[in-house]
Amino acid sequence: MASSRGWKIAAVLMTVLLLAVIACGAYLLMGGFGGSGFGRDLPIEQTVELDSDGPSDIYEMAVDDVAFEGPAAGILPAKLAGSTETVDEDGIVHGVTPDGIRYTVHGRGVSSQDAGKVTLVAAGDQIATDNSMPIADAYAGSVGDGKYDFTPFYQDVAPFIGGFDLRYINQETVMAGADRGFSGYPVFNGPDAQARAIADVGFNLVNFATNHTYDMGLAGIERSHAVWEGYPELLIGGSYLSQEDRETVHMIERNGITFAFLAYTYGDNHYGTAANFPNSYYVCGFDKALIEQDVRRAQEVADAVIVSMHWGSEYTVEPNAQQEEYARFLADLDVDLVLGSHAHIMQPTKYVTGDTGNTVLVIYGLSDFVSGWTLTDCILSGLFTCDFVWNGEGVDLENPVWYPAIEWSDGGDVRVRMLKDMTEAEIDANTRTRDVGNDSKYLRDFLDAAGMEIPVVM
Ligand SMILES: [Zn+2]
Repeated sequence: MASSRGWKIAAVLMTVLLLAVIACGAYLLMGGFGGSGFGRDLPIEQTVELDSDGPSDIYEMAVDDVAFEGPAAGILPAKLAGSTETVDEDGIVHGVTPDGIRYTVHGRGVSSQDAGKVTLVAAGDQIATDNSMPIADAYAGSVGDGKYDFTPFYQDVAPFIGGFDLRYINQETVMAGADRGFSGYPVFNGPDAQARAIADVGFNLVNFATNHTYDMGLAGIERSHAVWEGYPELLIGGSYLSQEDRETVHMIERNGITFAFLAYTYGDNHYGTAANFPNSYYVCGFDKALIEQDVRRAQEVADAVIVSMHWGSEYTVEPNAQQEEYARFLADLDVDLVLGSHAHIMQPTKYVTGDTGNTVLVIYGLSDFVSGWTLTDCILSGLFTCDFVWNGEGVDLENPVWYPAIEWSDGGDVRVRMLKDMTEAEIDANTRTRDVGNDSKYLRDFLDAAGMEIPVVM
């Protein structure tokens, strides 16, 4: 029986392969990949031309979060063979491998249209500041009524973000509750609506290890996790309520490919460096021995490892020595992608090679995505996107792209817009910036000088 079943599976896979080849051929015949993919967005400025096999038309083709019977759906990832699993009421898998490694899986059985490929989009910081909170207050009911809504900040970019499988954002500030008083700089506490916006926009990977995670003390972290529990679809990284949870490999699965998500911060405004933290799990700090343990454990059970790093010198484009050191360290550990944040402005994306010769793509700084700031450097952020393509043993990162974006308003709603969707006149008419006269030229020069090693599409 086993061999008969094996032949059936092989026959199905061959059929799928054949159909894929036919589909690809038909697509190419119809002029696919012919340069029209991004042309339809009428980019007004394009600093780097995408080559003909650049990012595909996934934004229109992907069917997100639709569990259909794709070839990979429902097949236990190979590294989890022999594990014992249970599924909780939220559909999250809790498992233990034969070697005793505990893990969770978000999205078991969820597939997109493209078998063997998983797409990712990453945004920078969502911060509750003295600037962003009044705007979010005005978005919900009347000002001062205690209601907040951050979702409208994302109204222009949410459809784009929703077209990807893995959707990352950095949540900079905690949610300690209204009774503690909401506050911006320098000790932040923001409304619970921050979590709702992240869930509503559709992000599913959330960094929660920042220098502000301890701003409202241990109770602030516990209160934040109580809020996160209302959104079980979100995989929260870098902050946990127990040592056991930190040592559990938390994964998100798409097309039968598993991605572990780890997150760390260089330090904390109150406790200093990781060595002074009250424990190693409320916030995961920069401790190479612990990071290596986490990564090795994750690589035992996951097909790929994505690491979020909160690091860098604020308002500085160039990566600092600590960033470069840890980037090489993560390259040596053979992780699959590094997503950085903290500088409040964008920092370059570079390929970093470690001492062992491994190379990893490092987005040093995603910048502030939703902050309400009004300095031109700070309103410039972007969306990083890439494909992870199954290679039989793990994944290859392909088609990395940086899409610059800005917080923008014409006097009405304040929201994030991608530069590729704007004219120069619109960019220059932004009422949110107060320090630069010619925004479009300034932003273009800034991006040209940033030292990006991946295509920038604007
Ligand atoms: Zn920070």
